[in-house]
Amino acid sequence: MENKTALITGAASGIGRNVAIAMAQAGYNVIINYVGDRQAALEVKQECEQLGVQVMTVMADVSDYTAVENMVKEITAVFPRIDVLVNNAGITKDNLLLRMSEKDFDSVINVNLKGTFNCTKHVSRLMLKQKSGSIINMASVVGINGNAGQANYSASKAGIIGFTKSTAKEFASRGIRVNAVAPGYIDTAMTAVLSDNVKQTILSHIPLERLGTTDDVAQAVLFLAGDASSYITGCVLNVDGGMAM
Ligand code: NAD
Repeated sequence: MENKTALITGAASGIGRNVAIAMAQAGYNVIINYVGDRQAALEVKQECEQLGVQVMTVMADVSDYTAVENMVKEITAVFPRIDVLVNNAGITKDNLLLRMSEKDFDSVINVNLKGTFNCTKHVSRLMLKQKSGSIINMASVVGINGNAGQANYSASKAGIIGFTKSTAKEFASRGIRVNAVAPGYIDTAMTAVLSDNVKQTILSHIPLERLGTTDDVAQAVLFLAGDASSYITGCVLNVDGGMAM
């Protein structure tokens, strides 16, 4: 157990899956959190194990405070440390505000923002004892720019940016860094649902003229996780092809 250990939430698919694999490639032991798709989580586990690191899968709904507390207990029974936490789990329930239900507002805030609070709360206890750790929160370009039809999602991501900066200030003197990554439009299941028309409009707003890949995001997370970024905390790293500038 000499390798560092990274917990990635929502790691059975999309960006989280690629972050888990990139962290394993870099030599981290990897803990894959998932909620629905156990088979997909086991496939990511197998891929990471082939890279020669230790891997664990843990099921927990990040929006459930007690479930996250139990998840961290389950992890610490196997791994004595968690060096990196990637708060990646997230959902969308898009609609114009006039048509957005209270339920859809609450569920997006609960998974994206409260989930980030729940995991940070329980994992930071361990990091405080260790006197070290790196936390990376998945924000979004729409948390910076806003987006029609995503009031719930963009509020959750703007909240994550405020949460990142506040916790970075609280934890800096304790050896724990907290940063956010703000992806633009990344080619995953979350964006696959967009129509070709919407995709063309989005592309016309991306200076680098392409959607991002999960690897683009994973490499930014890897940078913020490790010692190469040891003097960086409270930062929001845009991985968006220039959209937010
Ligand atoms: P995705 O749907 O492939 O991945 C999200 C993952 O989170 C899934 O594995 C899902 O099962 C998991 N998840 C959902 N609710 C959960 C819960 N309650 N508890 C635990 N896990 C849960 O989408 P993605 O594009 O890979 O998104 C990953 C993150 O990146 C999200 O936070 C998303 O908001 C953010 N993001 C994505 C894009 C994009 O263009 N794809 C852009 C900006 C930000």
